[in-house]
Amino acid sequence: MPELDPAGLTVLGAGVAGLAVAAELADRGVAVAVVDRGGGPGPHACSWWAGGMLAPFCEGENAEEPVVRLGREAADWWQRHAGTVRRDGTLVVALGRDRAGLDCFARRTERHEAVDAAGIAALEPDLAGRFRAGLFFRDEARLDPRATLSAIRARLATRGVAIRAGETAEGAVIDCRGLAARDALADLRGVKGEMLVLRCPDVALTRTVRLLHPRIPLYVVPRGDGVYMVGATTIEAGERGRITARSLLEMLTAAYALHPAFGEAEVVEIGVDARPAFRDNLPRIRRRGRRIYVNGLYRHGFLLAPAMARMAADLVMGGERPEVMDEDRPER
Ligand SMILES: Cc1cc2nc3c(=O)[nH]c(=O)nc-3n(C[C@H](O)[C@H](O)[C@H](O)COP(=O)(O)OP(=O)(O)OC[C@H]3O[C@@H](n4cnc5c(N)ncnc54)[C@H](O)[C@@H]3O)c2cc1C
Repeated sequence: MPELDPAGLTVLGAGVAGLAVAAELADRGVAVAVVDRGGGPGPHACSWWAGGMLAPFCEGENAEEPVVRLGREAADWWQRHAGTVRRDGTLVVALGRDRAGLDCFARRTERHEAVDAAGIAALEPDLAGRFRAGLFFRDEARLDPRATLSAIRARLATRGVAIRAGETAEGAVIDCRGLAARDALADLRGVKGEMLVLRCPDVALTRTVRLLHPRIPLYVVPRGDGVYMVGATTIEAGERGRITARSLLEMLTAAYALHPAFGEAEVVEIGVDARPAFRDNLPRIRRRGRRIYVNGLYRHGFLLAPAMARMAADLVMGGERPEVMDEDRPER
């Protein structure tokens, strides 16, 4: 297998995966270049539309063990590299008729404490009297994806790592092109996610709140100044640019169920993108000659990029074989 030359490495793609890999390599003294077809992170990257939840324990409801374990590295890593992390936990609530859903969520996840109506009111006074029971995941965190991408980009620039606009690179490459890498990774698929940004100064939530609902599970992430990211759908489709009336209706209905004041919110933004995912929704590192692919971050871009970057950098430096590395079979 050809050697990778750490002196001439290019990271292709400046979404969350690419920027995390570049930062991790820069930490280890590698002179890395970053090339992105959009010139840097922006609305063309899936990372732009993320909620920014660093919620490994809640994600354990649906995700497999590696996501929960590797995701626990994320908050400290982002705090060190971007300084944008808020460690205020996640509150999970369910409407009265969906109490069974809460019990099921509790059984499938760890590191939570049960909270009653008084506990919910103490954590989130604006939800007082609205929910009888919930779960509080004290150890979870969040960040603002756009502020974080911009902060890590700025920190990379101070270390001499600028982002160049372009679509190709010669030599050794770490390919972090997200869904665009489908041209080389035949088993990569898109999973559509739709989100909203609402301005609702009449609601003052201070942390991520998840509403369990049999059909419309919802999360609301505060961005400050009465602005909330509300998301997100998870639909088996690679399409990136169109929200359906149904998704819009359902997300707004769920937000209204969380707090009726959301009925008066201003819709600031509607976002749609497709998450890059492999069949089992777990991330992968693959090597093909002088190219290393870091991809398949699915719903967990910010959550898993630090662990993926650590493992990709280990591989480049000739260290341990990443646990998420699989054999490359290009025909897949
Ligand atoms: C609605 C929604 C909510 C989400 N919420 C969360 C969340 O709360 N927490 C979480 O951890 N994750 C979340 N995610 C998932 C997360 O956004 C993705 O896992 C992540 O963005 C994937 O990152 P990436 O860097 O692999 O791809 P991208 O962000 O798409 O970046 C790929 C980059 O590669 C560039 N590129 C493409 N082709 C080329 C080329 N030929 N040459 C150069 N550059 C190229 C693109 O311009 C782009 O900048 C969410 C996703 C969605 C859609």
